[in-house]
Amino acid sequence: MNHYPVAVNSCKAYNDSLTELIYNQMKASGVTKEMLDGKKIAIKPNLVISKKPEIGATTHPVFLRCAVSALKMFGAENAEYIVAESSGGPYTTATIKNHYSVCGIGEECGAPLNYSTDAQIVMYPEGTTCKRFNVISPIAEADVILNVCKLKTHSLTKISCAQKNYFGVIPGIEKFEMHAAYSDQKDFRSMLCDLSEMLRSNKTLINVCDGILGMEGNGPTGGTPRHFGVVLTSLSPYCLDLAAEKILGFEGTAPMVTLAKERGLCPDSADKLTVLGESLDDLVIDDVVPPDSQRKTFLSQLPNIMGGKLAGFFSPKPYINTSKCVGCGECVRSCPMHTIELVEKSGKKQAKINRGDCILCYCCQELCPIVAVDVKQNFLIKLVH
Ligand code: SF4
Ligand code: SF4
Repeated sequence: MNHYPVAVNSCKAYNDSLTELIYNQMKASGVTKEMLDGKKIAIKPNLVISKKPEIGATTHPVFLRCAVSALKMFGAENAEYIVAESSGGPYTTATIKNHYSVCGIGEECGAPLNYSTDAQIVMYPEGTTCKRFNVISPIAEADVILNVCKLKTHSLTKISCAQKNYFGVIPGIEKFEMHAAYSDQKDFRSMLCDLSEMLRSNKTLINVCDGILGMEGNGPTGGTPRHFGVVLTSLSPYCLDLAAEKILGFEGTAPMVTLAKERGLCPDSADKLTVLGESLDDLVIDDVVPPDSQRKTFLSQLPNIMGGKLAGFFSPKPYINTSKCVGCGECVRSCPMHTIELVEKSGKKQAKINRGDCILCYCCQELCPIVAVDVKQNFLIKLVH
């Protein structure tokens, strides 16, 4: 059964009243005490980068605390809870601590925080593109995942919501290796879908989306904070993402949602979703700014139609904004193709992209701490427009 209801409510602010709202959404979506009794429950926020909650890139600490409280209201007996996340960049105890600290996450969220860097191989023979994943241990060992995701734009996948948040179960820089291994964007999306399906094959996934303060523009980390004012819950990451895509005004254009439809993992239209709470039509925001990499015009679609080298030539590319770059080297470390180097310019270190091997994964843009990587359209497409 792949058509799960999605509970959707508007919500203006982060405060304790969220607990009841999320509990009611979980209950309406089908969460029961029996699902949780005696289970190992991993709570997976989105802490992709060390940035403060008001930037809109990471799960808000009040939202996380309320989501954990809501789950505990089911009164599960002998359940074990742990918060676990592998952010962008290296996965060491020191970096894990730093991410929790900067993102405002502490044990007051109601569950112990994971500091271990253990991971384990999980085989998934049914995978279409990827059949073997290395997964951080608290997630691999969990019976239930509470996926407390964030509603944002995303340069590679247009939106980052429930499905994309599962990429954070892959330890640290192995995420870059997966970008390199699946360098074609279609393969990468297929691998991500396999990852969610691998988790869904032996765990209960409870997906709750913090869509109160999100991000528009060059998400998932370098965009502009935007108040979307919504909270969504579903047992299906695909159905939740289908609803989120519609709310952001991107209906039919987010590639991960399109893939989920093609695989029969959600209805082929948001209008066919079972929506509980408020009407999706009433919550659509029609002026959300998409990432620069995803601004679609007829001409910008030509590369996809033509494919091959032309696709690479015409696609939006990352550029270092040399007036902002401070030469920290984070993009050098995060580039899966090792195609960025630090060069000396006027006595200062600056990043330089050697374009030949670039696979347009936009990891450099995602992980630059000071938003010094821009993505620009091909000059010919800009000229025509
Ligand atoms: S991560 Fe950003 S600031 Fe650091 S070197 Fe790269 S472009 Fe420059
Ligand atoms: S330069 Fe940036 S977009 Fe290109 S492969 Fe490296 S990280 Fe990805």
